[in-house]
Amino acid sequence: MTYPEWLRAEPSGILGSLLGVLFPARCVSCGRAGHWFCSACTASIPGAGRLVVLSRLRAQSNALCGVLSLSSHVPPLREAVHGLKYGGMRVLADPLARLLAAGWQAWGRAVDVIVPVPLHPVQRRQRGYNQSELISRALADYTGLPVQLSALERIRHTRSQVGLPMESRLTNVTGAFACGSATVRGHRILLIDDVLTTGATLSACASALHEAGAGEIWGLTLTYAPDPGVAQDKGNVDSP
Ligand SMILES: [Zn+2]
Repeated sequence: MTYPEWLRAEPSGILGSLLGVLFPARCVSCGRAGHWFCSACTASIPGAGRLVVLSRLRAQSNALCGVLSLSSHVPPLREAVHGLKYGGMRVLADPLARLLAAGWQAWGRAVDVIVPVPLHPVQRRQRGYNQSELISRALADYTGLPVQLSALERIRHTRSQVGLPMESRLTNVTGAFACGSATVRGHRILLIDDVLTTGATLSACASALHEAGAGEIWGLTLTYAPDPGVAQDKGNVDSP
């Protein structure tokens, strides 16, 4: 990928035109020229952009009201998430956040502030950015909600959750997060992560926010990995 990694969104004007010539946009999923995540791929997302409510996660953490997600971790969103997370394509945060914003606004739940799941400083240094923070900032632009980038802190460097069984995932991230911000007190939180696997990370974050006095906490992710521990209530988009 030759696209400049420092770009969070496609610039407009002369700079945008110049970069458009140097780095012509090509859909990360289908390869079609013109956009980084094209309208045809967007339209093919299962569920047509309606959020899926994943409810059984409440059992893991009383602090978490529930988690919503755009779709399961399948194409075309899977390719977009991979491009954003591992391919250095920060520019994908904008179209993905636009989808999340539309889904969230259609669902109609009120929250006060957006909070991204943080990376440990070591992880952040290695990747160069936190993809959840990029999504949160773009989501704030689309929804008009404030974002608190430093509300949560990852105080323990955890091993990757990939490949760990459910029990180990919970143990791996328990106590890994701290909320040092008094400004979350009494506020309803929209907690942002890229992919939901078992919900262990979101639950640990929600617990830290709850201890700091936050009100209702909802999780919002781009995709969810199919897992027997996660219930899908596709027809339940109108209930909290
Ligand atoms: Zn496409």
